[in-house]
Amino acid sequence: MDQFKSYDVVIIGSGPAGSLCGIECRKKGLSVLCIEKDEFPRFHIGESLTGNAGQIIRDLGLADEMNAAGFPDKPGVNVIGSLSKNEFFIPILAPTWQVRRSDFDNMLKRRALEHGVEYQQGLVKDVIKHEEKVVGAIYKADGVEHQVRSKVLVDASGQNTFLSRKGIAGKREIEFFSQQIASFAHYKNVERDLPPFSTNTTILYSKQYHWSWIIPISPDTDSLGIVIPKDLYYKECKNPDDAIEWGMEHISPEIRRRFKNAERVGESQSMADFSYRIEPFVGDGWLCIGDAHRFLDPIFSYGVSFAMKEGIKAADAIKRAIDGNDWKTPFYEYRDWSNGGQQIAADLIRYFWIYPIFFGYQMQNPDLRDEVIRLLGGCCFDCEGWKAPTIFRNAIEEYDRKQMAG
Ligand code: FAD
Repeated sequence: MDQFKSYDVVIIGSGPAGSLCGIECRKKGLSVLCIEKDEFPRFHIGESLTGNAGQIIRDLGLADEMNAAGFPDKPGVNVIGSLSKNEFFIPILAPTWQVRRSDFDNMLKRRALEHGVEYQQGLVKDVIKHEEKVVGAIYKADGVEHQVRSKVLVDASGQNTFLSRKGIAGKREIEFFSQQIASFAHYKNVERDLPPFSTNTTILYSKQYHWSWIIPISPDTDSLGIVIPKDLYYKECKNPDDAIEWGMEHISPEIRRRFKNAERVGESQSMADFSYRIEPFVGDGWLCIGDAHRFLDPIFSYGVSFAMKEGIKAADAIKRAIDGNDWKTPFYEYRDWSNGGQQIAADLIRYFWIYPIFFGYQMQNPDLRDEVIRLLGGCCFDCEGWKAPTIFRNAIEEYDRKQMAG
């Protein structure tokens, strides 16, 4: 063990949540160390960004860099229903992009470094506690264990849910959407729609939890994802390639048409158990942001924008906690804000899966259209007094009551 260093904030993980939290903490004058286990650039799934995410990226001053990196503009999302019989288009709220996450996350990390976030490549292995308060972390770098002290330890470790695994945050509870497995890969030579719609996200679904995404992540590469229930995957597929083949055959003929001449680049992968929530996710000297405490369902591409928003909001809570020596109120406010927005998103996603065709009609309903587009653009945390969230909530509660009654 070496002599330990001390920071206001130590962040575990430099995905979008960790980088944004680091940048915002630095803007508030706090000292920040971010510890990341992987060498960047590294692969990550999560390639279609909401309008809200686009706004955050522009606020960081990264728009020119995004365009220079060749990330396609995202005009919107085309949702194509069972056997291509129904279809609706969701425009985006504000200009945004589709991204190759290895390059995008590296760009955010560089921005964080420019803001004075210190970086350490290493694997965080444990927390340091003083009585009940978390006061630092133990990480391994270059084969050696180090200690670092923090006023606040931020878990931004994504699906690794580090503080939950260490028994500091609550246990992972599965969400409604948990029984799915996603299989995905990148391809060249995919047939795209004509401009200006050639770089839309395309969502194709056949029935509940049987769906696919096509996301153009660069001028010549598209991401294809096939999401199917777990039991189906284990029955029909031995590996990610089988699942992708199953999806091409059964989810929509449109996938086969678009991928007729496509060539896969890199490996295909599958991912399960990605939908969960953790409570509590704030405590004495620590808090969780992004996937480190909750992930719902990839269908509406909320992950990166929620992770970045939570990173920004958590920085505000951290600054207030340190300045006011109040280790409860600011963290509880952050928790309540997060739970409110995540619940609205969860309701919207459940409503879509229960009533997909009706969801398409709501997109045309002049009374709700504007609010639904904003919610899909990522505004789930900023919608107090809106009608749509209550309508979706009531419909879900009614559905659950009927299910319970048999
Ligand atoms: P991450 O991006 O996962 O970053 C966590 C970082 O922590 C990683 O770099 C990891 O290496 C590091 N780390 C972990 N443990 C440790 C440790 N012990 N020590 C040090 N470092 C550690 N989102 C979208 O916005 N659009 C999409 O189209 C989309 N599609 C998706 C499809 C699927 C199938 C899934 C499962 C998710 C999708 N998402 C999508 C969600 C998105 O991937 C995540 O929500 C987002 O990456 C969360 O960001 P984060 O910063 O919280 O975590």
